[in-house]
Amino acid sequence: MAIIELRGVSKKYSRSSTVLRGLDLTVSLGEFVYLVGPSGAGKSTLLKLLYAEEKVSKGHLRVARFDLTKLKKKQVPILRRSLGVVFQDYKLLSQKTVYENVAFAMEVIGKSKRDIKKRVPQVLEMVGLKHKMRSFPKQLSGGEQQRVAIARAIVNNPKVLIADEPTGNLDPEIAWEIMQLLEKINLHGTTVIMATHNSQIVNTLRHRVVAIEEGRIVRDEEEGDYGYND
Ligand code: ADP
Repeated sequence: MAIIELRGVSKKYSRSSTVLRGLDLTVSLGEFVYLVGPSGAGKSTLLKLLYAEEKVSKGHLRVARFDLTKLKKKQVPILRRSLGVVFQDYKLLSQKTVYENVAFAMEVIGKSKRDIKKRVPQVLEMVGLKHKMRSFPKQLSGGEQQRVAIARAIVNNPKVLIADEPTGNLDPEIAWEIMQLLEKINLHGTTVIMATHNSQIVNTLRHRVVAIEEGRIVRDEEEGDYGYND
């Protein structure tokens, strides 16, 4: 089953040239996809289209059961329930504890206190941070902060986890730990689509590789390699 489908998708930011040019891409439920390519190629832009941070300029885009070309503003939060998003810089709420950061993702979609109390410790256990529940982000290492961000992203059991350079700020060893976690999440059935510059990871933990250059898909390989010198 296709969970993500792009047909002739183009994106042009206002006052800029076209950054994505006629992309065709189908991702099946449960796949793990690396998005690679030089800086400025359009990887982040493609991910932003998927979580409706940016609008498609031309073509058709479907994510889960949502036609993103027709999505109304008020439907964006509903789409986001099917998605988890993780960034290079974690984007945690600094005034909230680890528990509160994760709980917040459930509160905004109207989950009960009781469900939250049950689920948040479960997901923090899964990422190995139950014992840091009461800490604040600034008291955690980068790797730990990324684990919290991942916990927050998966707490509502999304069908798709979108990760934009999730290991970009981390030491190699910690990056591997984060990858093990993403693997585990993928093995549980969540589709993962991840932009990365980490050639070692791509060449070792083999998955589908989609390469973008100057806004076009130039390569799409099952168990592909990174393919660039870094
Ligand atoms: P990548 O993630 O592969 O590094 P991006 O998607 O961030 O690439 O950027 C692709 C191109 O789009 C770049 O030329 C970048 O400058 C441009 N771009 C990104 N965001 C915006 C924006 N909000 N407004 C205008 N141009 C943008």
